[in-house]
Amino acid sequence: MSRNMVIIGAGQAGARAALELREQGWKGGISLIGREAHPPYERPPLSKDAMVGEAAASPAAIISKASAAELGIELATNTSAMRIDPSGHRVLLQDGRELGYERLLLATGASSRRLLIGGKEPAGLLYLRTYPDALLIRDRLSAGSRIVIVGAGFTGLELAASARQRGCEVVVLEAGPRILMRGVSAEIAADVYALHRAQGVAFELGVGIKAIEPIEPAAMGIGRRHLVKLADGRTIECDAVIAGIGAVPDTSLAESAGLEIENGIRASHTLATSDADIFAAGDCCSFPHPLYGGRRIRLESWRNAEDQGAHAAAAMLGGKEPYAAVPWFWSDQYDRTLQVSGLSDAGATTVARIAEDGVNRLFFGLDEGGRLVSASGIGAANIAKDIKAAELMIQRRLVPDPALLARPGIKLKSLLLPASEEKGA
Ligand SMILES: Cc1cc2nc3c(=O)[nH]c(=O)nc-3n(C[C@H](O)[C@H](O)[C@H](O)COP(=O)(O)OP(=O)(O)OC[C@H]3O[C@@H](n4cnc5c(N)ncnc54)[C@H](O)[C@@H]3O)c2cc1C
Repeated sequence: MSRNMVIIGAGQAGARAALELREQGWKGGISLIGREAHPPYERPPLSKDAMVGEAAASPAAIISKASAAELGIELATNTSAMRIDPSGHRVLLQDGRELGYERLLLATGASSRRLLIGGKEPAGLLYLRTYPDALLIRDRLSAGSRIVIVGAGFTGLELAASARQRGCEVVVLEAGPRILMRGVSAEIAADVYALHRAQGVAFELGVGIKAIEPIEPAAMGIGRRHLVKLADGRTIECDAVIAGIGAVPDTSLAESAGLEIENGIRASHTLATSDADIFAAGDCCSFPHPLYGGRRIRLESWRNAEDQGAHAAAAMLGGKEPYAAVPWFWSDQYDRTLQVSGLSDAGATTVARIAEDGVNRLFFGLDEGGRLVSASGIGAANIAKDIKAAELMIQRRLVPDPALLARPGIKLKSLLLPASEEKGA
């Protein structure tokens, strides 16, 4: 069998896994196969700094071609993996090459969910997943233009903040009854809504879209301006429509190889797929989480991609540890940072801790037994240390006193200590 580790998907998880394989002493070959033109890069800045910075800077590389070569990692860009032959332990690439593997990692990520109206995708919509997508959107955010954003999830709202910072008029259309329906508590969503309203973003919640039509037929058949027709009969003219309605895990390769799929590529607690020599990590991977009763989840977050990439590398080398990292996500909007640790939908009750100056606002989710299962915070950058303390509590399955959680004067770190230590006994 080939002494080669193959990684399909040269994004956050794939690049981390390649680096980790070397760090953990793997001496054989490593092939990192990516279909994008750029070497692996960070996506979070695409909706933030890349939109508001003076110039469209190159994406921040996770690993350059030169450092990959130095580490003996064969990094193929602009190359798609087309087929996997699990019994022959081979991957067929678009350029006709065949790569043998001892172990294979699928880190294929996710793609922007396309907006369909009456089963058809309107022409000329913008989406954000890749650096080229970011350049196209950036080009449309000129001061004074009116931008319609469909979807009030994290990507849509970060783009709304960036567009306001660029001087655009922004209208966000959301089919659900509130913004940020997935991933954060209603309290945090209400804070983020108020923040955007104060910055001049207009929202239409619970709204349906009947049609999105180009206003001016432009070169190449794509109208730059659009007329958005709402289900209630109102219309909005705008200079660009950006759809931020979520992401779909890229599972087609896994599916055609006969691997089990369940809201992503179905992985075990060690991140092995239904084929013991094939692993999955990052946005494409669904896995059972031990902290949440083995509930199967799929996360779309930077840290999860990093941690799972590293974990999968260890598993490819024979590691048997279950993946148990506490989910963690952050978002930056205007001068506020938002962080979520744990799973906010796992809470039965919520405890609020509001700083005296009102800036840092934390909401803790407790399950029926009082165990801390999530913490969401919005505020200044220093909210990170409270979320970190909460993360440790979640990891240790602690049952904190809700009255102490609620008091901003009590350091969260002190709730990590057994009661006797806390009192200095
Ligand atoms: C605009 C934006 C902003 C974000 N901001 C935040 C944030 O603020 N905080 C946060 O926690 N997370 C954020 N995220 C999420 C985070 O970036 C992702 O969770 C992370 O990139 C996932 O890493 P991944 O490796 O699983 O997938 P990706 O980084 O998407 O990489 C997958 C790669 O696999 C390639 N690929 C797929 N199929 C094949 C194939 N058959 N052959 C070859 N290559 C293939 C894809 O082209 C892609 O390059 C953001 C994401 C986006 C898009």
